[in-house]
Amino acid sequence: MSSVQPAETSPRKYQLMIDGKWVDAESGKTFTTPNPATGEILAEVAEGDQADIDKAVAAARKAFEGKWSKVSARDRGRMLYKLSQLIEERTPELAALETSDNGKPIKESTYVDLPQVAENFEYFAGWATKIEGETIPVPGQMFNYTLREPVGVCGQIIPWNFPLLMAAWKLAPALAAGNTIVLKPAEQTPVNAMELGKLIQEAGFPDGVVNIVPGYGETAGAALAAHPGIDKVAFTGSTEVGKLVAKAAAENLTKVSLELGGKAPNIVFADADIEQAVSGAMMGIFFNQGQVCCAGSRLFVEEGVKDQFLERLQAKSANIVVGDPMDQGTHMGPQVSAEQLSRIQGYCDVAQEEGATVLAGGKSPELAAAFQKGYFFQPTIFSDVKNQMRIAQEEVFGPVVSVISFKDEDDLIKQANDTIYGLSAGIWTSNITRAHRFAKAIHAGVIWINTYNMFNAASPFGGYKQSGYGREMGKHALDMYTHVKSVWVDLSGKPIGWFGK
Ligand code: ADP
Repeated sequence: MSSVQPAETSPRKYQLMIDGKWVDAESGKTFTTPNPATGEILAEVAEGDQADIDKAVAAARKAFEGKWSKVSARDRGRMLYKLSQLIEERTPELAALETSDNGKPIKESTYVDLPQVAENFEYFAGWATKIEGETIPVPGQMFNYTLREPVGVCGQIIPWNFPLLMAAWKLAPALAAGNTIVLKPAEQTPVNAMELGKLIQEAGFPDGVVNIVPGYGETAGAALAAHPGIDKVAFTGSTEVGKLVAKAAAENLTKVSLELGGKAPNIVFADADIEQAVSGAMMGIFFNQGQVCCAGSRLFVEEGVKDQFLERLQAKSANIVVGDPMDQGTHMGPQVSAEQLSRIQGYCDVAQEEGATVLAGGKSPELAAAFQKGYFFQPTIFSDVKNQMRIAQEEVFGPVVSVISFKDEDDLIKQANDTIYGLSAGIWTSNITRAHRFAKAIHAGVIWINTYNMFNAASPFGGYKQSGYGREMGKHALDMYTHVKSVWVDLSGKPIGWFGK
């Protein structure tokens, strides 16, 4: 028996968090965010824009140069650890809100998103005291060492697919390294960012260290990316918007890191364990309703096992439960928004026009009355796809997999790499040398062998090509949030002889 948590009924209200205070937007404007399962209003949220971003950046600068610069690394770590504990304690409540705002199944929010959010803050809590410089063996009577310093005020713009987790990936390393932040959550999913703001205060971070300004991308997001008062901008979202962010940042030569789209090849060789590969293919594309930048959306299957593989994939996919995301037994909830739903439907239409065959799904499911206004879509499988078709080249960001068959290994590598993206890839094989050969040959930042969608706070994540640059999580994330300063000290005590005595 699965248990169902009731969805909230009356809308919540949220203000902006600037300099430790909860305030209305300067314009007085608000926007609403619906529950994507029902279409009902979940929350009314203050709508930040340029004026609020200006205030938040000023608060972050004041905190960076003031209180926060005097907090020891140990105390930064303790605050981050406290935050991870608060998140663990509040998991049921935050998971329910994540599901209500984003639509992801409660099972995912509770057992995937929230634990990883806590894990990221805990992991980077440990790093706060371990960010160290080096001594460099330079010749002569010289001493050279490096300091690792925070970059300063960081603008962080995050998407809606993992609202809390994307906030954690960005905030945790930045705070561990001693930066201050202006966070702009996605307009589709602002609720838990604001709840996180309350926990950040409870964990003891000084006012102004983290400022949270929800609002629209074209206004609040664009104002943040272009702001001359920030030292770094970190963005996760579409490649299209990533380019706008990079251009805006270029005006001030602000440091940029980008985690963008993907069109990952998930490759099944004939010698793979087929049951394992089928479940991996499903994990690759149906997890989080396919709204995952590293989704295994191009499923390359070796010709010899294609029929057997597709039969199992179809059979197992038919058992996926699509429906009430608050039900523990649900595998797939709604897509995040009406726009996303119509975009996905549009891609399915294009795929059929291009000659792909629908093996499953391709449309919204029939659901009970309570969910008829929700943005649900069926798990969808297209076969007979060619790698150059739009369905195989463009990011759908939905539960839609394109199956492409292959015969020859060299041709497969060419096709797998024939994409503007390079975020991730999956390989299913029992041949260990082939697995590692492919891991090297594929141009992507993350490779999964006989598994898919594995993440850990200690393991770096990020893209090649138009999937972006910079690495989140792991120690490499700290590189994005620190400057390296080189300090030279003369040990000889003598004048420099170059221009004579
Ligand atoms: P998606 O296409 O998945 O909705 P986007 O890339 O549009 O993702 O959005 C990701 C984040 O970028 C969101 O927080 C959004 O508000 C923000 N955003 C959208 N447009 C801009 C922009 N022009 N400048 C800065 N941020 C933006």
